[in-house]
Amino acid sequence: MSKILDGKKLSESLAGKLVERIAKAKFKALAPADPKLVIIQVGTLEESNTYIKKKRLFAEKIGVQVVHKQYGNSTPENDIVSDIAKYNSDPSVHGIMVQLPLPTGMNTDKILEAIDGKKDVDGLTALNTKLLFDGQTAFISATTKGVMTMLHHYKINLAGKRAVVVGDSILVGRPTAFALLNEGATVTVCHSRTKNLPEETKRADILVVAVGKPHLITSKHVSRGQVIIDVGINVTKKGLVGDVDFNKVKGIVKAITPVPGGVGPMTVYSLFDNLVSAYEVSLQK
Ligand code: NAP
Repeated sequence: MSKILDGKKLSESLAGKLVERIAKAKFKALAPADPKLVIIQVGTLEESNTYIKKKRLFAEKIGVQVVHKQYGNSTPENDIVSDIAKYNSDPSVHGIMVQLPLPTGMNTDKILEAIDGKKDVDGLTALNTKLLFDGQTAFISATTKGVMTMLHHYKINLAGKRAVVVGDSILVGRPTAFALLNEGATVTVCHSRTKNLPEETKRADILVVAVGKPHLITSKHVSRGQVIIDVGINVTKKGLVGDVDFNKVKGIVKAITPVPGGVGPMTVYSLFDNLVSAYEVSLQK
């Protein structure tokens, strides 16, 4: 039977550490305000509403203020950019994130690049992705950070291991591949044009799947001794399922994250881990 890598339990226990870090930073700086996160949302996409709700609940639990700034679909990009500039220069704001995806036709890069790298707690600006690329300290994309925190917590050694990442998106696949590479793994990245997916995935010691296709990975894609990190979140008639067919592989692999309750809660935790770091740095000035 595979070991279950429980992201829900882990994120709950790590939340307590964030509370301690906030209290310590406040005490040292003599009663400053709480950490504050600005979430920018454009439109009313149902999935985005759900993700934002989860972030707000987590923020409330650890004592972080959230400003949820919601814009209509047809808001001019420049209006959003100039609001972000105001948040950049507001010392009471420690982190700014844009809930993706933005509506079709909107220039995502332009909006993301408006965020000051020091407040880019979702790690998606060119500055932070370049630092990750170079193997330097950076705000790493919350999902990637969630995956890495989980691997560290469960003491899954990466140096010299073969890691395969399925999915090469800017948001998940690519940053995760670089984060694994930075820790000494030998990394293969697969995508929709990969010729023989099972051949690639079976070779992995650590297999990270971020595609968005329910149960794409099944028993023929895995082998004994593997650690499987399923990033996928797919809404189906049977409820939320991952990209990995959990029931088909759970008897084969060494360890696996469930969906729900795996990477999802770790992503939320990691966003706030980045925010608390930005808060601590702002108080050291
Ligand atoms: P995305 O931008 O749509 O990227 C999907 C990736 O999968 C692309 O690289 C695509 O390759 C690849 N792909 C598509 N079909 C494939 C196939 N048959 N075989 C191999 N690769 C294939 O998606 P994303 O934003 O990375 O999200 C991926 C999943 O993770 C979604 O289910 C999303 O909901 C979930 N997610 C979860 C969290 C969390 O906190 N757990 C956070 C973010 C996202 P091409 O580039 O060649 O098209």
